[in-house]
Amino acid sequence: MSRRSAAPSPICLWWIGADAPPEGALDDVRGHVERVYGLGTRLWHGPERPLHAFDPVRGQLSSTRILEWLLDVGPHDARKVVGVTDMDLFIPVLTFVFGEAQLGGRAAVVSTARLMPEGGATLNGRLLVARLAKEAVHELGHSFGLVHCDEVHCVMSRSASLIDVDTKNGGLCHDCWTRYLELREGTEVHP
Ligand SMILES: [Zn+2]
Ligand SMILES: [Zn+2]
Repeated sequence: MSRRSAAPSPICLWWIGADAPPEGALDDVRGHVERVYGLGTRLWHGPERPLHAFDPVRGQLSSTRILEWLLDVGPHDARKVVGVTDMDLFIPVLTFVFGEAQLGGRAAVVSTARLMPEGGATLNGRLLVARLAKEAVHELGHSFGLVHCDEVHCVMSRSASLIDVDTKNGGLCHDCWTRYLELREGTEVHP
């Protein structure tokens, strides 16, 4: 499952935050994503940042604009590109989102901004990374064509609050796993 394949890897994680990523976080998330999906995953390093996605009135970044930008600027040989940021994300109808993905598409984005534990990343870095890994796996699931799952412990269950995030475990339930295998082998287009 975690067999290493030669580059290019199907999944690329790219830190696109304002500050440096939390220590070791991206490597942990990379390993988790690789274990869950059984696909090679690598870190991509590019200096570009989606500054145009910043909305000065809301003081947040438009996650939808970031998705378009990731497709444009990110590695073109990757099957999936996941942007990871410390900036707060929004879509117009919601106060914030933990992340967003194109259903059955190539791009996903997740943010640490609303996942920060009490005391911050230095005091409770493990919890932050665990939450970030779950949300990265969740958004990637959408990018493979998975929709929300009613099983609250499944990583594809809806995340409206940190309680939801902490309730789910990091993996796909049996039904989502089966569906994922179908989608992965297929055209990645959601019916
Ligand atoms: Zn979702
Ligand atoms: Zn599920």
